[in-house]
Amino acid sequence: MWQLRQLLPKPAVAPPFCETERPGHPVVVIPSGKETFIKTMSSRAIRQFLQMMISSGVSHLPTVILPKPSPRPKIPTKRSPAPTALANSSASTLPAPKQLDRQSVVAPPVSELVQGLLESSFQSREQKTEGLLKLAEVVSGCQNCPELAAGRTQTVFGVGNPAAKIMFVGEAPGADEDRKGEPFVGPAGQLLDKIIAACALQRSEIYICNILRCRPPGNRNPLPQEAANCRQFLDGQIKIVNPEYIVCWGTVAAQNLLGEQRPVGQLRGKFLAYGNAKVLCTYHPSYLLRNPSAKKLAWEDMQLLMKEVNSGS
Ligand code: SF4
Repeated sequence: MWQLRQLLPKPAVAPPFCETERPGHPVVVIPSGKETFIKTMSSRAIRQFLQMMISSGVSHLPTVILPKPSPRPKIPTKRSPAPTALANSSASTLPAPKQLDRQSVVAPPVSELVQGLLESSFQSREQKTEGLLKLAEVVSGCQNCPELAAGRTQTVFGVGNPAAKIMFVGEAPGADEDRKGEPFVGPAGQLLDKIIAACALQRSEIYICNILRCRPPGNRNPLPQEAANCRQFLDGQIKIVNPEYIVCWGTVAAQNLLGEQRPVGQLRGKFLAYGNAKVLCTYHPSYLLRNPSAKKLAWEDMQLLMKEVNSGS
């Protein structure tokens, strides 16, 4: 039994039959026969309630055993120390960031031979063939990207008609390309061949190359620095072939050639300009293999290209 008067003199202390539900809002449990009433009351209301009961002649209440409240989580009063050890240990195990800020990219100096080619004029098919051979020889010994140069089987320079009206620019060699030394072979290349055939073209009519001439490890995307390193060779090929149309296959090709930030989905479906060439961007065949629903859009792009090519011929 609880003597009510014992509970009155200390209003600041929560009474034993009270459970603090929220600070400032004690819960009063009042047993009455078989029922238990639970009320949320302020301390002042509890005092008034008890005084009312006392004045009504009630002096004792039966003891109510309430379940012990689960301990409240401790709120730290001081800030936890910064997890420097964890941060340091995880930093040591994480791979280095793969993407460099484009603004921190510095293109290497253009070699004298490439500079000479860039300043030369290539009119005849023979001149173009000779120019491309010279450039390919420089590329074969290139060490501008140490990681790629160390891992390549061979450089993948480019193939096709040195006097092509249409140039295809892809991303970078994959495993098949690295092995064969030719861009766009393997499943993506086979799909590209089908697209070329659907356009009533032949592969030999087109000149095909990539943003990079060496295979990135694990087929990762080219790093901005690697694209910058290889740019002089791409510029050389464009200068020599001098195509009227360039098709950028995929976001990597489109962004690097055009200096764009937008993905290919926002660049496709219209002609853009690069130097003397009209540029059309569309989805990479590898993407189309993974997302067949995008083939319709790529086909629309190719129809746009062929309409333009045929109207100008
Ligand atoms: S990717 Fe281009 S720049 Fe880099 S090492 Fe190969 S050829 Fe040289």
